[in-house]
Amino acid sequence: MAEHAGVPIVLTAPLTESIDHAGFFIQMSLASMPGWMEWVIDKKYPAWRNVPTTRTGAAGTAPAGLRVLEAVLAREFGPECVAVCYPDQLLQFIGDATRVVAVSTHNPLGTTFAAGVYASIFGSSREPINALYARRMFDTIREGRRRYRFTVIVGGSGAWQIEETQTEEELGIDTVVSGRAESDEVVALFRHALAGDPVPRRIEAHHPHDAAQLVVPDTRTSFGVIEMTTGCGRRCAFCAPDLHPRISIPKDRIMKAVRANVAAGNRQISLATEDMFIWRTDEAGLPFFVPNRSELLDLYRSIVEYPGVEQITLSHATIAPALVDPDLIGELSALLLDRSPIRLPSVSTHPEGRVLAPLIGIETGSVRVARQIMAGKALPFDIKDWPHVVLNGLAILNQHNWFPVCTLIVGSPGETDEDCMATLDLLYEAERRGLRCMWVPSIFTPLVKTRMQNGEGVRETRHLSRLQWQVIMQAWAVASRIGLQTTWGKLSFGVGSLVLWAARLRRVNGPNFTWPLVQFSGLVPERWLERAGSIYGGRPLPHVTRDDLLATVRPDWCQAITAGRGGTPWSRSRRLRMAAL
Ligand code: SF4
Repeated sequence: MAEHAGVPIVLTAPLTESIDHAGFFIQMSLASMPGWMEWVIDKKYPAWRNVPTTRTGAAGTAPAGLRVLEAVLAREFGPECVAVCYPDQLLQFIGDATRVVAVSTHNPLGTTFAAGVYASIFGSSREPINALYARRMFDTIREGRRRYRFTVIVGGSGAWQIEETQTEEELGIDTVVSGRAESDEVVALFRHALAGDPVPRRIEAHHPHDAAQLVVPDTRTSFGVIEMTTGCGRRCAFCAPDLHPRISIPKDRIMKAVRANVAAGNRQISLATEDMFIWRTDEAGLPFFVPNRSELLDLYRSIVEYPGVEQITLSHATIAPALVDPDLIGELSALLLDRSPIRLPSVSTHPEGRVLAPLIGIETGSVRVARQIMAGKALPFDIKDWPHVVLNGLAILNQHNWFPVCTLIVGSPGETDEDCMATLDLLYEAERRGLRCMWVPSIFTPLVKTRMQNGEGVRETRHLSRLQWQVIMQAWAVASRIGLQTTWGKLSFGVGSLVLWAARLRRVNGPNFTWPLVQFSGLVPERWLERAGSIYGGRPLPHVTRDDLLATVRPDWCQAITAGRGGTPWSRSRRLRMAAL
């Protein structure tokens, strides 16, 4: 490429969303730690900014969403018209011929559920590292625009943050796209931009209705992410992905993308889904909450056995399927554990301490809140049994070395002290039973277009109640105990958290933060704090077994559970009734 000839369509994403070699935990930290703590990441993994490039000097890896856009545009306008680069390469790729610079971003301003809370707890300089890198990227694009004329388009799952904060002008953005790249609306937008025509400030792109319309890129993606499903079906009121149709990508297309990733030097694969257990359920005539065991195992077996695949990570799942088909969890472990890059020797029975750690939404221990915001989350079980579904599910998962990352939502609209106490009961009961997971608390954020978009969330951490703080700090305490095994480690962690509280956090987070933080530090026995009325000590939950729960499942759903294990599939009419759920 001549120095300033430029490429007509230049695509990019924040560096923090493109890297994969540093692992999921570093990427999660970049998305949630405030900018001033970047030095912690540098110390832990100094090489995190090193990224591969292709023979032509373009980005060697990119988020899967950006790769989908690249594939769509290459199909429409020719591959020579499109280049994907990292933000610090932008000025090499932008030139006279450039008409569009398009950005795909997952979390440009750090205002998602989890990222926002972790950064905001640290106060005024709370913008996450990811947001700082996104801002620098937009600065570079603006610099390019001072020399060349082109349109700036932003899309991706985090584009709503720009619309909501009305930062288009500040960041130099012409159009914000909401929705997927495959749609006619997106292609038309780029056509206009290439012609130099005026473009709208925002467009709403339609979601494809079947797998044939979904593009699965055959290029290297960050973390080897390959789309497995869209949509869900459990209808949680706060959830955006559930608004899309439930579609499973066929196995042959997934395997084509696996081959492409391996050919481009990737050694890791992660199938992107909102719930891995819904894959190919509709096609098998099963209700979406009964996993299609044989096809799921066949898919993962094919990936494991594909030469060159060294690591496999799980993305998202739900917990009820573990109770529906515990043997599936065992069989998946037998296939996948040896390939998992995540090690937790303190809890795993695997000889090398490997674990599987999908992200699972638990959100609350309060049946009242669960019924309000996620009535379908426990299906085929009744949401009234939600805490018991969670406890039994965790027991089955732990037994097979699954130690999931479990999200909790604090501050759902109308959440009361009694609801927080119910969530704490669940956390304490899980501890009492020796169940392990990484609880990740977040503060409710009303996401646009969801059924809770008008819900009132907690705007500042100083407005959290003491019990809401206790849920957050108890969740972190459990997670930190998995990592801290020595007395010295626990002591220095406790002292460190109190020093941080005294120096900064008590001013930022208000008085309700203090006692939960003291409990979190582990330096004062919990029973003292409980006796003094400073914290809530929890109530034991009754023992409800998996058999008890199965006995409550509707008879026709029990039949479907048998079918998922290879029994008779459901009739078309019953399938349609289930799809309408
Ligand atoms: S289970 Fe997860 S993906 Fe499905 S609707 Fe609920 S939050 Fe959304």
